[in-house]
Amino acid sequence: MNFFIKTFGCQMNVNDSEKIRQLLEDKGLESSASEATADIIIVNSCAVREKPQEKIFSYIGQFPPAKKIIVAGCVAQVEKEALFRKKVKIDCVVGTHQFYRIGEIIDEVAAGSRAKTAAAFSRQWQELVPAAQARSSRVTGYISIMEGCDNFCSYCIVPFSRGREKYRPMDAILREAEFLAEQGFKEIVLLGQNVNHWHEAKGGRAFPHLLRRLARAVPVPWIRFITSYPGYHDRELIRAMAENRNIARHIHFPAQSGSTRILKKMCRTYSRSQYLQIVRAFRAAMPDMKFSSDFIVGFPGENDRDFNLTLSLLEQVEYESIFSFVYSPRPGTQAAAYARELAPAAAKQRLYALQELQARIQLKNNRGLLGQIVEVLVTEKHPKKTGEMIGRSESYRVVNFPSAAPVGAFARVKITAAGPHSLRGEEIPNRAYA
Ligand code: SAH
Ligand code: SF4
Repeated sequence: MNFFIKTFGCQMNVNDSEKIRQLLEDKGLESSASEATADIIIVNSCAVREKPQEKIFSYIGQFPPAKKIIVAGCVAQVEKEALFRKKVKIDCVVGTHQFYRIGEIIDEVAAGSRAKTAAAFSRQWQELVPAAQARSSRVTGYISIMEGCDNFCSYCIVPFSRGREKYRPMDAILREAEFLAEQGFKEIVLLGQNVNHWHEAKGGRAFPHLLRRLARAVPVPWIRFITSYPGYHDRELIRAMAENRNIARHIHFPAQSGSTRILKKMCRTYSRSQYLQIVRAFRAAMPDMKFSSDFIVGFPGENDRDFNLTLSLLEQVEYESIFSFVYSPRPGTQAAAYARELAPAAAKQRLYALQELQARIQLKNNRGLLGQIVEVLVTEKHPKKTGEMIGRSESYRVVNFPSAAPVGAFARVKITAAGPHSLRGEEIPNRAYA
């Protein structure tokens, strides 16, 4: 019997899917290259906005009834039994904290047992796979260090889909990082909904300590972490980064809005000026520090003035990149009850204006790199152009360049052309790739 896993959503879902695959392969099942040849399809789902959630149902709807369908992850967790009332055929629902049982669940599904739901939350961190070898990349290794969120931002479903914060013990994190370093990974990314809130059990040490330990113990050139919540900022984090050059000079630091009034309504616990103060503190300690962010436009009550404050935040911080979304009401969240005066078309307009401004900022910043030499981690071959490689800079800018460098090498690239979303360059010849 073989299976296929389809993943929607964030990096944590991608990481969970890799672990599920490993668990099932360890059990002797075979992972199928496509849906067509699979007996069982596991859909690891995303509930963060309505549209991606709806995509799951059109995806499932395309399969013949003979295929067994397991809906796993965030939508499974939030909707539970309600999923069986959807028009599509679903054989089993597996929440975010039940992945450790996937082996027995899949046996039951294969045996044709009655449709059922496994969605109980657990209070503690659960190790799924010892060192998660089933990784799609040999260059970038993702390591989950915590799960869940205690913040309850008024728009957000994550506390309901991932539960309360649970932290992975430091030893397990260090072991996985050391394993990746031994395997030759060039970049590790610590994952969590609130990575900077990681800490040891009661009264234990906090995230900056973990970063320091990792940076010293693990010889990986770039250590990154996503996502940090600005409301939990601790000055020690800046010190830990400044002391260790193998922690990338880049932080994903979602502001969501540039208006303190809207931030309050979102239940974010920082103001615009506090956010900017933190950005300044990072830059004072590390002049080359770069930022990226997430933004929501059209939040209930957001007026032109609020939106302009978001635009001006973009100009002030000069982000490397942003993810931006139109507000999507999520069932059960506080904001779902707020009145929405803004028409969907007007919210879309705001989204386009935001993205257009960001494209201009990126173009200006990228042009500033013309003629400069940038260190690039080669991540893939260009899918169409032979002899051309694609890589990323320390601040996650995409660089294309002709090269014989293998995937996973660091190359030095002189930038020769700049667009808003990518850079082109010429490689500085290198006899031995790092
Ligand atoms: N923990 C992270 C965010 C995780 S969710 C943080 O606090 O910043 C990823 C992103 O999805 C969020 O940053 C937000 O921009 C977006 N998002 C979450 N809920 C949303 C909603 N209801 N509507 C639109 N965008 C949303
Ligand atoms: Fe959602 Fe807020 Fe938690 Fe981020 S911090 S996951 S936006 S509730």
